[in-house]
Amino acid sequence: MKAAAFDYVRADSVGDAIDALAADGARVLAGGQSLVPLLNMRLARPSLLVDVNGLDDLAYIRRTDDVVEIGALTRQRAVETSEVVRRDLPLLAQALRHVGHVTTRNRGTLGGSLAHADPAAELPAVALALDAELVVRGPSGDRAVRALDFFESPFRTVLTSGELLVAVRVPVQRGACAIEELSRRSKDLPLVAVFVTFEPADGRIRIAVAGAGPTPIRARAAEELLAGRTLTDDVITEAAREIAAAADPPSDLHAPADYRRDMAAVLGRRALTKAVR
Ligand SMILES: Cc1cc2nc3c(=O)[nH]c(=O)nc-3n(C[C@H](O)[C@H](O)[C@H](O)COP(=O)(O)OP(=O)(O)OC[C@H]3O[C@@H](n4cnc5c(N)ncnc54)[C@H](O)[C@@H]3O)c2cc1C
Repeated sequence: MKAAAFDYVRADSVGDAIDALAADGARVLAGGQSLVPLLNMRLARPSLLVDVNGLDDLAYIRRTDDVVEIGALTRQRAVETSEVVRRDLPLLAQALRHVGHVTTRNRGTLGGSLAHADPAAELPAVALALDAELVVRGPSGDRAVRALDFFESPFRTVLTSGELLVAVRVPVQRGACAIEELSRRSKDLPLVAVFVTFEPADGRIRIAVAGAGPTPIRARAAEELLAGRTLTDDVITEAAREIAAAADPPSDLHAPADYRRDMAAVLGRRALTKAVR
């Protein structure tokens, strides 16, 4: 099948892109790794594609004070191989190895994965686990949105028409982290994935889960249960139960909801144990 007809404009500046996005039915084209298949299957029928691939000023990685800021158009492979990201945001660097293939990561962008908001995708859950802040630009200027508030429902975010995600700000990680992911084939989107970070500055453990609901989720009750406790096997098992209780996964042709919920507990226990070690 081929895409339905659409108009196309290549933006020369962020301002150009925002002006073009004001048109009814306009949609951003970034790496195209999710959007182009949707076009070809006619699951998306935008009237206008606003190609932002020429906006080099949205492709950067900068460390300032205790925050790493990454431009939305930075290719996933550039993020994965960045020395700054490997040193200061190891959870993000490790998660990227699970995202598709090197070929898709060469084109796919960080911002594209967040804006696409697939509830099973790794990067939205990583943004939650790292308490990232997303910078959105629209006709009336910039607004910062916490990752926790960004994802609304499957494939929907708080981005309104005419807005462009321009950057992601992530506090530097200081402690251990771990990822446990279950997918049917290596490199597929996960059925469930759990992301854990330990932050020595505030003593908090943060737990985010992909594939466990209509959006990525933070397992708050499990985080509260772990606060200030010695992480024995029994405590970790209790927390894993809370991770499963927080999950509200879908049933689909890949796996029933009960299986995903059970796997959230299994992967949660493994990820916590790995991070403790
Ligand atoms: C074979 C294959 C395997 C994959 N496996 C995985 C996987 O295991 N895990 C995973 O998470 N993903 C996977 N993906 C998806 C991949 O990570 C995509 O790159 C990503 O989801 C979208 O990024 P993109 O830059 O390609 O965005 P595009 O496809 O260009 O756009 C995606 C959506 O986001 C919007 N958008 C893009 N950029 C912006 C912006 N800056 N501001 C506002 N809206 C924007 C677009 O309008 C569109 O709606 C896979 C893709 C393929 C083809």
